[in-house]
Amino acid sequence: MRSTKQKEVLQQQLTQFTSFFNAEELYRHVQKKNPNIGIATVYRFLKTREDQGELHSFICNRKTIYSTNKNNHCHFVCEKCGIVQHIPAKNLDFLSKSIAGEVCHVQIDVTGVCKDCLGGKRD
Ligand SMILES: [Zn+2]
Ligand SMILES: [Zn+2]
Ligand SMILES: [Zn+2]
Repeated sequence: MRSTKQKEVLQQQLTQFTSFFNAEELYRHVQKKNPNIGIATVYRFLKTREDQGELHSFICNRKTIYSTNKNNHCHFVCEKCGIVQHIPAKNLDFLSKSIAGEVCHVQIDVTGVCKDCLGGKRD
């Protein structure tokens, strides 16, 4: 019974996020509603939701972040200074065409040299 209530709180807080979030953020929100919910429960909940296809996970700056919608997550990583920029990539339909299966969500990491490094403003 107790765990059903906890799941309700978790689900409720999950739907508050309109964009990307991480486990700690969800944990903080959940704590305000029910301090008995531990971080392990939060991780378990996220894993279950992901397995059910209701949540999608991405790696951002070596951290796992989640989204309730299948937003694409694209990075431009500078080889010189290591800065990570988020780049908009809306039209990725070509990917689905070259994949013999069903695409769930997309993460792309593009590597290159950023504008600042090209301009010589940084070392
Ligand atoms: Zn997905
Ligand atoms: Zn990112
Ligand atoms: Zn750079």
